[in-house]
Amino acid sequence: MALDSETFDALLDTVRRFVRDRLRPLEAEVEAADAIPDDIVAEMKAMGLFGLSIAEEHGGLALTMVEECRVAIELGHTTPAFRSTFGTNVGIGSQGLVMAGTPAQQTEWLPRIASGDIITSFALTEPDIGSDSGAVKTRAVRAKDEAGADIYRLSGTKRYITNADKADLFTVMARTGDEAGARGVSAFLVPRDLPGVSIGEPEKKMGQKGAKVADLNLDDVPVPAANRLGAEGEGFRIAMRVLDRGRLHIAAVCVGVAERLIADCVAYAAERRQFGKPIAEHQLIQAMIADSKTEALAARALVLETAAAKDASRDVVLESAAAKLFASEMVGRVADRAVQIYGGAGYIADYGIERLYRDVRLFRIYEGTSQIQQLIIARETMKRGG
Ligand SMILES: Cc1cc2nc3c(=O)[nH]c(=O)nc-3n(C[C@H](O)[C@H](O)[C@H](O)COP(=O)(O)OP(=O)(O)OC[C@H]3O[C@@H](n4cnc5c(N)ncnc54)[C@H](O)[C@@H]3O)c2cc1C
Repeated sequence: MALDSETFDALLDTVRRFVRDRLRPLEAEVEAADAIPDDIVAEMKAMGLFGLSIAEEHGGLALTMVEECRVAIELGHTTPAFRSTFGTNVGIGSQGLVMAGTPAQQTEWLPRIASGDIITSFALTEPDIGSDSGAVKTRAVRAKDEAGADIYRLSGTKRYITNADKADLFTVMARTGDEAGARGVSAFLVPRDLPGVSIGEPEKKMGQKGAKVADLNLDDVPVPAANRLGAEGEGFRIAMRVLDRGRLHIAAVCVGVAERLIADCVAYAAERRQFGKPIAEHQLIQAMIADSKTEALAARALVLETAAAKDASRDVVLESAAAKLFASEMVGRVADRAVQIYGGAGYIADYGIERLYRDVRLFRIYEGTSQIQQLIIARETMKRGG
């Protein structure tokens, strides 16, 4: 059962105040430390943010997609690394389990994911395999353990895995059997503490400091057969369903960051004076604000309409890809205009605009690049006959 509207409005208001009063004052500190403070993580857990998308019977808040997107938009009003702290638990790290897990798998893991007691990651990308994700090379070979129980032995490397540094559970896509391509891929729940699992050093990134990515190395890891998600060969389809949903969430975050940047630009343009008046009174500045606002409104409408269609169980593969493509490209343009409106200050770290400019660049790359979204949109449009 979803939250009633009064409870949801109270949650949204709490998130709004948390972003404004607790997270925004810490943005520069998080950037410098490249870490989210422990007390903030504890507050996120207490608010239920790790379980936004998980059923109430497993301790989550069971938000609808529209509600989740509205929360994500609010969270976009601050540095996106805060959202990443619980983003994998809400999205790509948990949703395979939500969509394809057996009741036993769900009961074992979802309550601890929803509470934030364990962190989950989604491991699809590999050193040689990115956009062509149906070609994963990580192997899962059926075997027996010493006690004669059915297991798979997993070997391979997964790259750029968000939250791998602190994850307790990974959803890993690996190749079972000899079939090439997407139909040979299966999905597995791989606990961090199995022998043969190791995590690489976190990568140095362009932005989103405070959110870490690292390699997940699997060296002959004995994974119980009971940890397979869905049937053999179903893993790629599960991963794509997870990403369809994740793309909508990312698009919502993009809308939030754009709204934040526009508000910052409006405040700065009212205060900064050139040629004897606030730059806000120069029409070329107004044009940039108007373009940004129009695009942000369009993205917001696309995200919320697609989320509503998803809640109504409609096929939104096309629309989710379109929302991710449009919103991530949009926030890139808004961030670029924000640097321009701030002038030299836009390039200087103290003002925070250059930080958001770097942060938003990622949105056009992960959970499918803009080019991959274009391919999905074209394929689905042609499938639907236009
Ligand atoms: C910070 C960060 C966090 C990430 N988190 C995760 C995670 O948690 N889990 C996970 O599994 N992965 C994660 N990724 C990986 C991410 O999803 C991939 O980087 C992304 O899918 C692109 O793959 P690639 O980097 O291998 O680029 P490539 O696939 O090598 O693409 C390079 C370029 O070629 C283009 N291209 C590729 N194929 C085509 C085509 N058919 N037509 C036109 N153009 C094409 C791409 O659009 C891109 O411009 C993360 C990446 C980063 C940077």
